[in-house]
Amino acid sequence: MTPRAFVSKRAPIYADVPDEKWNDWRWQLSHRLNSVEDFEQVLNLTDSERQALSTQGLFRVDITPYFVSLIDPDDPNDPIRLQVVPRAEEIKPFTGMMEDSLAEDRHSPVPGLVHRYPDRVLMLVTTQCASYCRYCTRSRIVGDPSATFSRAEFEMQIEYLKRTPQVRDVLLSGGDPLTLAPKLLEELLSRLREIPHIEIIRIGTRVPVFMPMRVTDELTDMLQKYHPLWMNIHVNHPNEITKELAEATDKLTRAGIPLGNQSVLLAGINDCVHLQRQLVHELVRIRVRPYYLYQCDLVEGAGHFRTPVSKGIEIMEGLRGHTSGYAIPTYVVDAPGGGGKIPLMPNYRISESDHKVVLRNYEGYITTYEEPLTYKPHDPSTCEFCKAKRIEPGQSGVLGLLEGEDMFIKPEGFDELHNRGGGAHRLRADASKWSPLGIGAPASEETSDPE
Ligand SMILES: *Cc1c(COP(=O)(O)O)cnc(C)c1O
Repeated sequence: MTPRAFVSKRAPIYADVPDEKWNDWRWQLSHRLNSVEDFEQVLNLTDSERQALSTQGLFRVDITPYFVSLIDPDDPNDPIRLQVVPRAEEIKPFTGMMEDSLAEDRHSPVPGLVHRYPDRVLMLVTTQCASYCRYCTRSRIVGDPSATFSRAEFEMQIEYLKRTPQVRDVLLSGGDPLTLAPKLLEELLSRLREIPHIEIIRIGTRVPVFMPMRVTDELTDMLQKYHPLWMNIHVNHPNEITKELAEATDKLTRAGIPLGNQSVLLAGINDCVHLQRQLVHELVRIRVRPYYLYQCDLVEGAGHFRTPVSKGIEIMEGLRGHTSGYAIPTYVVDAPGGGGKIPLMPNYRISESDHKVVLRNYEGYITTYEEPLTYKPHDPSTCEFCKAKRIEPGQSGVLGLLEGEDMFIKPEGFDELHNRGGGAHRLRADASKWSPLGIGAPASEETSDPE
């Protein structure tokens, strides 16, 4: 079967728009659709969509003419439509719903900078996007033009990064960094590049998907001055992969920017193993490496987009082994409350003994791996990398347990809960009471009853 050809589409109402306007990203931005009247011209609206669009205080709606053209106007369940056109379900609260489900605000040392992990930060540089995803994890700030970041806040972000040398990776996000005025974006990149300990810069953007015409030669010429620069785009469904997107990713990769994709697992949109397999195949065809598949966050307005976690596991089962390793993303749950991303996958390790591991593959073939009977453990005292290691205090985690830095990790309040006053008990009064008994050895003074 030959792979599908990527196509371009234009809704009938745009048929007479001259190409130079259609292909101008500024025209796309200034002609976005956001009202019942706008949408009526391109889609057959459902009652649920009308109701949502007429609701006060709804998370911002805006869709580029390019992106709206990818929707089948007569299909109320069109997978692109469901992502960007609001429905009445969006207004319904659900169990577990939170405004800031990832506790990003709590992790912000200065406004707009989320420092969750030891060596990297998320830098929110704008609240504006080219179009707005209804399941936005940052809907508490995104879309609000009055909440966008000020020059003073930007200076505070830069100052924090300068004085925080453990940060080697800065991830620009928002909002969408590629909606910034080109001059401002360049200033930001050049200011970050002046900081010697920042090794890589990443941009998280859906602009190539919502508005591929933004990826001009001018943009890629500018971006490639700030290498090493990486980029993640956001595609959820094969219908988003068009001729225009393929041209944009071609330009970006020719400029030396490695491209990744972050998808969100969405009910009724991409919760299908076979659809996901086609999606990742089409992504690698346009030289985009699937990076993450996210479980949908517990955020306001996103309740009706959620699937059970088992759907994600099933999708991973249908990818690993069945297709190229390069095409397989990591499925993650971004921990509610701010624990960061937690990877999940099916179990491939079936059993084990002291020198044997029993494993299964994607076909259900079960094998054993014989572990060496003699293994000379790696010696950290003679290893230059171990000696140079830098682990931030308090963030050594489970690795810290393995390396013997800590013996346990305790939940908050653990000591208080388990301190039931034994310190004052007479049996505790003499510490020697609790020293080893020396079983099998003749009773010594230490182990005999002090009384
Ligand atoms: C996702 C995320 C990052 C980057 O994580 P990677 O796994 O390195 O891609 C950094 N900071 C925050 C707060 C994030 O949510």
